[in-house]
Amino acid sequence: MPTSKRKVKKVAPIVQKALNTLQCHVYGVAKTSGFHSRKKPNVGNFVANLHSEVSEFWEAYRKNQIDDLCEKSEKCEQMGFGTLTNGEEELADILIRVLDTAQTLGIDIGRAVRVKDAYNQTRPYRHGNKRA
Ligand SMILES: [Mg+2]
Repeated sequence: MPTSKRKVKKVAPIVQKALNTLQCHVYGVAKTSGFHSRKKPNVGNFVANLHSEVSEFWEAYRKNQIDDLCEKSEKCEQMGFGTLTNGEEELADILIRVLDTAQTLGIDIGRAVRVKDAYNQTRPYRHGNKRA
């Protein structure tokens, strides 16, 4: 049962819409790239791919390479997109995977984030003395 007395700051509707727009965009990019050809998505594949990106972020941290330019950075810069560190690349990959999974499964991620963020603000300090 939520116990916090903090005033809940709701995610602005424009942020919710932006998340939904990005969700549709990344799904479209994946589809154009040849993914999403199955009629029924294999949820296990989505979970494994998301986990893979989380692991890549973790490995970059373990190697103390979070702030190093990623291996695609030079090519990205040559194409005029800008550079990326390993940390930036992997967090972007994680977000893209989450949004693509949400679109695939018909989840309105903007609404889900708005609701869960509001709920989280009502939870007790450190969610009841959890360590992390
Ligand atoms: Mg990656």
